[in-house]
Amino acid sequence: MASDDAAISTNDDASQCKRYAVEKGYWTDPYISLLTGRPTNIHTPEINRGYYARVKGIRLLLEQFLRTTKCECQIINLGAGFDTTFWLLKDQGLAPKCFVDIDFPTVTSKKCHFIKSRKSLLQKVINEGIDIKIDKYDLHGSNYHLVGANLRNLNELDSKLSICGVDRNLPTIFLAECVLIYMEVKHSSALLQWITDNFMSAFFINYEQVHMNDKFGQIMIDNLKARQCSLPGVMACISVKSQTERFLNTGWQYADIIEMNHVYECLPQADVQRIENLEFWMNVNCWINSWLITALVMLIKIPTALAFIRSIF
Ligand code: SAM
Repeated sequence: MASDDAAISTNDDASQCKRYAVEKGYWTDPYISLLTGRPTNIHTPEINRGYYARVKGIRLLLEQFLRTTKCECQIINLGAGFDTTFWLLKDQGLAPKCFVDIDFPTVTSKKCHFIKSRKSLLQKVINEGIDIKIDKYDLHGSNYHLVGANLRNLNELDSKLSICGVDRNLPTIFLAECVLIYMEVKHSSALLQWITDNFMSAFFINYEQVHMNDKFGQIMIDNLKARQCSLPGVMACISVKSQTERFLNTGWQYADIIEMNHVYECLPQADVQRIENLEFWMNVNCWINSWLITALVMLIKIPTALAFIRSIF
């Protein structure tokens, strides 16, 4: 489907934005550059800070879940794209019993290829004595799995997760970072319902736009329309209330929202201060530019001011 191609292309944006911010020093990720090329555009500090808050906020929630369950749990990353969370958690000694990355086969085939061909990615998905299974779209390592599936097709999702050995009785956290918005509400609701019907103890981290009917929402909609994305999930993102209701109406017992400004305030403030200084020179550059403009405006105004003063005396 054409709209699937547009949704698939958003992975390139997300991974390039992450790589750009990593190269600026916002956070450390030695793996993202193995999966995506050097970004071609310059990103503003605001975009980088937004990605920083998104990545750090999600990571804090995942770490809390992993520590609480002592890693006796599973993570299922829906619409994972080129996300590197598995490798970063593994480096921290925080890998869960089973980690599954799922995306369209077009995306997973590229990720499979990169994992196969980059030693530092491959090493982390292999455990001695256990054979890794790789075909064109899917990869099964010791506790890492990458599978190609369409999240609209629940039968396919069900059987792929079974092949990964997902245990439906184990605490499982689902992650969807900018994914449900690309699905029609009937499909995302069916997916959320399928999870509550099939998992004994499930959690869901959904990173998504809200207030899609305000000025910034409109900018985003225009941006996505320009790429011929059909935006089927926008209706669920109209308000904070509609976001929580989509969960409460599909069998989830509790749902809450934290807006990103608040997440930013809750992150470790020493690190926030560090990143706010990263692009200090870029900020200074902006100030100098605006001062230059002010100085220029003053220069234009001086003759007028002089003429005015002379006219008085
Ligand atoms: N979650 C990743 C991140 O934040 O870096 C990628 C986000 S990207 C904006 C959205 C991803 O969702 C794309 O990789 C796209 O292919 C995937 N996606 C959207 N709809 C999907 C569907 N129906 N089935 C599988 N993947 C889907």
